[in-house]
Amino acid sequence: MTSTLWCQKAATYLHRLCVDIPAPWPEPGRASQSPGRSGREGGRRVGSQGNRAATDLFAAAVASFGFDTQSLPFDCVDWSHDGADLSVAGALFEAFPSPYSLGCRVRAPLLVVSTPAELEAADLSGRIVMLRGEIATEQLMPKNFPFYNPDHHRRIIYLLETKVPQAIIAATSRDLQGVGGIYPFPLFEDGDFDIPSVYMTEEEGNRLAERAGQEISLHSRARRIPATGCNVIARKGRQAASDMRLGKHPAQGTDRDRRVVLFAHIDARIGSPGANDNASGVVALLLLAELLADYHGSLGIEIVAMNGEDYFSNPGEQQYVALNAGRFDEIVLGINLDDIGYHKGSIAYSLYDCPAGMADSIRRLFSAHQRMIEGEPWYQGDHGLFLINHTPALAVTSELLPELMAEITHTAKDTVEIVDPVKLVTVALALRDLVLHLDRATA
Ligand SMILES: [Zn+2]
Repeated sequence: MTSTLWCQKAATYLHRLCVDIPAPWPEPGRASQSPGRSGREGGRRVGSQGNRAATDLFAAAVASFGFDTQSLPFDCVDWSHDGADLSVAGALFEAFPSPYSLGCRVRAPLLVVSTPAELEAADLSGRIVMLRGEIATEQLMPKNFPFYNPDHHRRIIYLLETKVPQAIIAATSRDLQGVGGIYPFPLFEDGDFDIPSVYMTEEEGNRLAERAGQEISLHSRARRIPATGCNVIARKGRQAASDMRLGKHPAQGTDRDRRVVLFAHIDARIGSPGANDNASGVVALLLLAELLADYHGSLGIEIVAMNGEDYFSNPGEQQYVALNAGRFDEIVLGINLDDIGYHKGSIAYSLYDCPAGMADSIRRLFSAHQRMIEGEPWYQGDHGLFLINHTPALAVTSELLPELMAEITHTAKDTVEIVDPVKLVTVALALRDLVLHLDRATA
């Protein structure tokens, strides 16, 4: 097949994942300008209809290329909202429900808190609290997030849950590291945190702070919806096939279950079409699966559509880690594809704890492909699962990731127009070379 045909395949997959699939919100809502409700809302957020359509598409495609494929379900919550009304003595303020927050209809005096020390000292009962300034500079990690949760975040959550305000208003600007290019960013994005909250811009927060002590009324029309999602795990190779015949779970092989594992997260951030983040990685895995349709090597290949990287509790990641507890040493190399197709700049790969010989081979194989360079290591991706389990890892992303994070990632701007299908084909071909090399090297 010519590379033009592969590029067409890549473009078709991308379109299906980002344009055809996006499902409506689970309830008919008025069109609104608030974040997450504009344009092609819905996308592939975990728990949504679009997310299930994406995992179904992935599972059907990889199965058609001869992979033993399983969709492993988990419970989650989807979320819907229809905006929020906030007013003080007839004056209106613009606020948005925090993703995954409960809704509320409350009336109480406003208390403004700017620092952790002020929060420690504050009496919040019977109040609506506004968090702004120093205490609202970075998104707080979800309370049950298992992989990273700094003490100062936990302390803020603990104090709020102990002091029980009626509701929380967060006035924020940007958090490029934690959230990407969203302005304002939601301080809370946590379906396990039960104090209703909304967020607003810093400017709106300054205006509202002048009303401290006055009675304000807040009506947030948000609701949580019980839902399910799944990881898709697809396997090929001699050992994987024999495991399947023995009825073993794909992630519970034997000591000889040596395999290369490839991740791409298939979910998208709420409110974003998620074309580069991360339909791009998913499409590369689909192309790779087809390139390996005739693979019969002895090294197992495991391709995973990971579901939850951009969701508050990382349910797919938690499921994968639980399934593989004590078995990460069977993984010869873990590969994560995330944000790989930005049309500007090159494709950037980075290596983590790879044995010297393997690292040399990867560099040699990848140098044969155009616009693939070795970039800076980064740690905010699913390859972190390999690192914390002491497994050699390779991550592939876009060279200009910082530029993407500042302006595009996690926003409505992450559309198919910013993704170059040629880069997705390049990554698939480079990974095919690598997988075949690893099979020979580990035989
Ligand atoms: Zn991502």
